[in-house]
Amino acid sequence: MTEQPIPGFHLVRHPLADLKVTALRNKDTSTPEFRALLEQLAPLVAYEALHDFETGSAEVETPLCLAQGARATRPLFLVPILRAGLAMADGILRIFPSAAVGHIGLFRNEETLEPVSYFFRMPPDAHRAHVLLLDPMLATGNSMAAAAERLKSEGIRRITCACIIAAKQGVERMRSVHPDLPIYGAALDETLDARGYIVPGLGDAGDRIFGT
Ligand code: URA
Repeated sequence: MTEQPIPGFHLVRHPLADLKVTALRNKDTSTPEFRALLEQLAPLVAYEALHDFETGSAEVETPLCLAQGARATRPLFLVPILRAGLAMADGILRIFPSAAVGHIGLFRNEETLEPVSYFFRMPPDAHRAHVLLLDPMLATGNSMAAAAERLKSEGIRRITCACIIAAKQGVERMRSVHPDLPIYGAALDETLDARGYIVPGLGDAGDRIFGT
């Protein structure tokens, strides 16, 4: 179940998601626990974010008879924004192992907070794909906006953004430049600090995933 606390942002409402977000926020959660929690939480967000994933009807033969079923009519691409998005992709692959994975490498210039691109690779057939764009922390929104821009420039039109924690400012920035893209997340936080960290947030997701 989701609710929309602000326009364009779909908040996943589920006790399991709340428990996992709380544990992720805890500064005493260890790196292995943090990574495991993120990998468990990402599919809960993806489950909601992919509610409009396009399927067609299909027949399937059970051990007893033919039954009606569903088949994917588009490829699903998971596109993590490096590096923190990787843990989300790993988790979602467990519920959708046939998804292809593209990568977008962006880092934040710590002075301007603007994204700098250093890597972009998509699997073939990208223009037909439904892309789930992954970044656990939607902070200023600059990285997500730049990543979405790049995907659109490759002819990809069907894009859904998935994060774990979003800041209101990040959602508003995405709304201003990509009003067509829905955003799903497990928490919505009020503010950013002077360095662009989400407050209360969980700190630097990449550092906490990789122990750097
Ligand atoms: N990236 C992070 O990892 N954490 C934040 O709070 C903001 C951006």
